[in-house]
Amino acid sequence: MNSELEELYQEVILDHSRRPRNFGELADAAVRVHGDNPACGDEIHLGVKFGSDGSLQEIKFTGHGCAISQASASLMTMKLKGRSRDETESMLHAFHDLVTTNTNDAPKALGDLQVMKGVRKFPQRVKCAMLAWRALEQALQQTVGEATVSTEIDSAD
Ligand code: ZN
Repeated sequence: MNSELEELYQEVILDHSRRPRNFGELADAAVRVHGDNPACGDEIHLGVKFGSDGSLQEIKFTGHGCAISQASASLMTMKLKGRSRDETESMLHAFHDLVTTNTNDAPKALGDLQVMKGVRKFPQRVKCAMLAWRALEQALQQTVGEATVSTEIDSAD
């Protein structure tokens, strides 16, 4: 990756961490998931409201932590709002691959989320980038109620 591109990526991440999109409480959320990354001190509170067809009608978050964790959450909500459940799940897998594997051909569908691929060189940062997505994964499984996920506890499956 050339340095010009890296600078651009930095800018997108800083912009989203300073001015997160879809930031706030979702008053009528069907499911709320609290995500915790104690290794870095990041927290994400994700609220999702599903449409009658299971799509992500509304998705909002609050939280605090490092720029990577907050920017990843902001970019994620922008990308997934209004998406079907299938699209959301394939995006989740694509993003996980993006930040954990060494492939150079990131799926174009990820759009701005591709800025996160730099974290794959830093295992601790992968947790930051994945935090909002882990919360989302739990929200999709659960669909109603409240839950907590942590990057330090492996899921039961
Ligand atoms: Zn972090």
